[in-house]
Formats: sequence, structure tokens, C-alpha cells
Amino acid sequence: MINKVYNLDEFDLIQQAFRRDSPKSHPNTTVENGDDASVHLLPEGMELVVSTDTSMAGVHWPKHFPLDKAADRSVCTSLSDLAAMGAEACWAWVSVMAGSKKELIEIGKGVNAALTRYGVELAGGDTVRSPVTTALTITVAGMLPKGKALCRSEAREKDKVWIVGRAGFSSLGLQQWLVEMKEGYFKHYFEIVKPKLEQGVHLRELGIRCCIDVSDGVLQDVGHITKASNIGMELELSKFPGWELLCRKVGERHAIEAVVGGGEDYALIFTAPEGMGWLDSFATCIGRCTDRKEIEILLNGKKVEDLPSGYDHFA
Ligand code: ADP
Ligand code: MG
Repeated sequence: MINKVYNLDEFDLIQQAFRRDSPKSHPNTTVENGDDASVHLLPEGMELVVSTDTSMAGVHWPKHFPLDKAADRSVCTSLSDLAAMGAEACWAWVSVMAGSKKELIEIGKGVNAALTRYGVELAGGDTVRSPVTTALTITVAGMLPKGKALCRSEAREKDKVWIVGRAGFSSLGLQQWLVEMKEGYFKHYFEIVKPKLEQGVHLRELGIRCCIDVSDGVLQDVGHITKASNIGMELELSKFPGWELLCRKVGERHAIEAVVGGGEDYALIFTAPEGMGWLDSFATCIGRCTDRKEIEILLNGKKVEDLPSGYDHFA
């Protein structure tokens, strides 16, 4: 290695930053963090669910955003993928690139806060000093009963479309962070991500088959469902939770842009057959699937034109 990571006390530092305060190990872990790899026992009849995400200063959070909060967010956005599959979250592996010990300590604080809130074990990781960037790659794993994963390909033409959580609030918060607004109304919606883990498991137990988490904007993300399921979708903006509040705060056009094009809220969108109206005890019906193979966004029944697109890293 050209550049030895953090000289002599590298392992002490990892211990101090990440391992000392990490939550207790999961009952299915047979070899914990600290060896060359962790080992986990999968109970009979269960499948392993794994997802990985990288986030980077200046791309996924503004450079002046507190690093512990950024790390907390990164863990939560990864866990959100497990929620969207209907999995129970069990383990996380955290690979860090950071420029200083101070940064590592801040990152460790956020990582452990998030993992502790959701009872997820820190099963391993990697720590590298980078003079150029601060970034985190978070791999998460969980489990669910065989064949029960909530997949993008399982929506059906006559299904209703539901949302758990909000859309638009977090991206407006990010904008307020970006312009360094002191007391922006939406700022805190960006600061904390709440992965809908309990709700994902609940949906799976109710027999729901199709779900996605909204990370890149509603339009782009439901597009993954319509494509994989070969259907269309019709969504009514005025039915989205908090729609009127958004319009009051930022005006209708910005509200449309935030909901349709802004990701970041990590709401769950799922589809369910008609006749499950009681789902409204924890979800909101925002539209329906169609056979028209396109996504139609309506506002008070009228089709909205000039829709903003979602986030594209290479656009
Ligand atoms: P190896 O050389 O075997 O890859 P490392 O030197 O990278 O081991 O790490 C030593 C131990 O510390 C490993 O068990 C690894 O899982 C753990 N570790 C390193 N970085 C982190 C981190 N950021 N979070 C949690 N555990 C970490
Ligand atoms: Mg390593």
C-alpha cells in the first residue's frame, strides 16, 4: 500500500470510531466483526437480502452538512432498500473513505446512531484515508421467508397504488441546505431519513407483492415498477400526503417538481389489488395501475405536462 492508512493506531482508531459503540450482535451471527469476515447462519426457509449504496460529500450531501448526520442518512438510505423488499434488517458493513481522524469519529457517531435505532449489527467494514474525498459505501443485509420478497415486477393492471410516508419534503430541505438557509422549514426533512422497515415487513405479511422506495423522485422510481411489470400508472398529486402544505409553502409548480422529481424522502410506494381500502390505516392511496404503458401524473384530475425528471448521476 502506497499510503499507510492512519499509522500505528489504525486499529485503535477503527475500534474507537466504529466498533466500541456499535449495537449488539444479531442472534444469527456466528463470527462477529473483527475477523477476516463475519459469518451468519440463515434459518431454514429464509432467504438473504443484500443491498449496497455509496454516498459522497458534495454529491449526496452538501459539503457543509454535518458529517455525523450524513453518515446517519447514508445508513438509513441503505436500510430503506431492505424495507422496500419487505426484509427484516440484520447486518451492515461500512466502508469509509475519510480525510482525517476527526472525520472518522464523526462518521462513526452517525453510523452507530442509525444502526442502534434500528437494531442492526455492524458486521464489518473497511477504513481508508482519502486525501480527495469523503465517502461511504454501506452494504446491508437482512432476511425474509423464501419467495416473499416485494419485487418491482409484481404490479398488476388493476392494482391500486399506495404510498407510506411523504414525497418532496426532503428534496426541498436539501435545496434549503444547499443555499445555506438558516431556518428553512424543510431542512430537517433532509437531515433525518426514516427507513420504513416495520412497514415493509408489515406489507409483506399482508401479502403485498410489489414495492419500491422513492430515492430518485416519484416519476423515475414508479417508472421502475411500470417497466418491470409492463403496465402503466396514473397518479393524482393532490392525494399525496402533505400536498396542500407543500403548495402553501412553495407554490404549486415547485410542489409538483419536488414530488415528481425530488427523491430523498425514502417513502415506500407499493401496489395492492382493489378492495384493500383498510390499508389507509398506515398508507395513502395515490393512484392506480393501468394498461396504458405510460405514467400519467394528474393534478385534480387534469394531466400535468412538462414533468421534471428524477436524479441522474450521469445526466
Ligand atoms: P482486513 O485487512 O482483514 O480487511 P481491516 O484492517 O480492513 O481488515 O479491518 C480490521 C477489522 O476491523 C475487520 O474485522 C473489519 O471488519 C473491521 N473494520 C474496519 N473498518 C471498519 C469500519 N469502518 N466499520 C466497522 N468495522 C470495520
Ligand atoms: Mg479491509
